[in-house]
Amino acid sequence: MSDPDPKLRPATQLIHAGRIRSNLDENAEALFLTSGFVYESADLAEAVFANQVEHFQYSRFANPTVTMLEQKLAAIEDAEACRCTATGMAAVSAALLCGLKAGDRVVAARALFGSCHWIVSTLLPQYGIATEFVDGADLDAWRVALSRPAALVLLESPSNPMLEIVDLRAVSALAHEVGALVVVDNVFATPLLQKPFELGADVVVYSATKHMDGQGRVLGGAVLGRKKWIEEVFQPFFRNTGPSLSPFNAWMILKGLETMSLRVAAQSKSAEAIATFLEASPQVARSLYPTLASHPQRALAMAQMSGGGTLVTFELKGGKAAAFAMMNAFRIISISNNLGDTKSLATHPATTTHMRIGAEERAKLGITDGTVRLSVGLEDVQDLIDDLTQAMQNIK
Ligand SMILES: *Cc1c(COP(=O)(O)O)cnc(C)c1O
Repeated sequence: MSDPDPKLRPATQLIHAGRIRSNLDENAEALFLTSGFVYESADLAEAVFANQVEHFQYSRFANPTVTMLEQKLAAIEDAEACRCTATGMAAVSAALLCGLKAGDRVVAARALFGSCHWIVSTLLPQYGIATEFVDGADLDAWRVALSRPAALVLLESPSNPMLEIVDLRAVSALAHEVGALVVVDNVFATPLLQKPFELGADVVVYSATKHMDGQGRVLGGAVLGRKKWIEEVFQPFFRNTGPSLSPFNAWMILKGLETMSLRVAAQSKSAEAIATFLEASPQVARSLYPTLASHPQRALAMAQMSGGGTLVTFELKGGKAAAFAMMNAFRIISISNNLGDTKSLATHPATTTHMRIGAEERAKLGITDGTVRLSVGLEDVQDLIDDLTQAMQNIK
């Protein structure tokens, strides 16, 4: 097991960190597609199960290909430990359920990925856990909610789909005063554009399905945190409930990570150009992107992020009819609820990802019938702008 200098920059770590090389000296990471491992003697098996000898046992607990991915992600994030999961939602649900118990209280930002919202609003209360949503951008609301004891705080920033920014440093400080564990879903920012641990987070979760695979192939997730929390709180839950990542998917994500810094930089640059183009388009009521001068929280975004990310959200003046007319006319951009892919993808949140939360909750989040979320891909940016231009000409 080789562990390069942890002070290497992220682009280098994405390629070299966390490698486990077998005695065959392979260059590319090996795919250990095996469910179990063998012991050369019954004595060794006994010692392994007694934790006296380190040895892979069973791929639900750990697998060398998955371990390489975990070590790489821990290196980029500067985290003490990482566990990878089958999906992003397995990461979020396990990170929450592993430590919470009946009688606990959870405070969450209202603007959460749809399934994260369901876990907080519907699942946790079934287990006797009280939950409360606050407007993530409103520090006074956090202050009120965190003036009482809480076990855990869950938030994402920038949020899906309105790209709202939560003040990670301030909210983490308030949460820690009442003893809450701060869990940050960092999918939209990626580990390259925002470092939640430096801003006070205790646990960072990812859907590796998004920018990490980055090519729309496999699902995966990751949970990062302190060694003590991962080993003593997370691992027993993980090992015994089994949300483990397939070694094959881990291997795909390892390959995706090698190019993530190039993809995220190029896609973010295009996203900013597209957001600027949309802002000047007559059919567009507003264009949201964290680094645009018009973003209401630009200063905060610039203070805690090193780039605006690969997503742009905009509102068409003509509502649902305009959004559908434009989306149905796209030639390059596809209609899809996924994001972080090399292919540009457009979503109409009100009728898809945010349909289930209802009109009232959508209004609170600022999601209108004219809102469109665009995950900007790796195509030539001028071709994407041309596609948006011709598609918007179909708006009556
Ligand atoms: C996609 C996503 C998830 C869930 O990840 P899956 O891999 O689809 O399970 C959670 N949070 C955010 C912000 C996401 O974009």
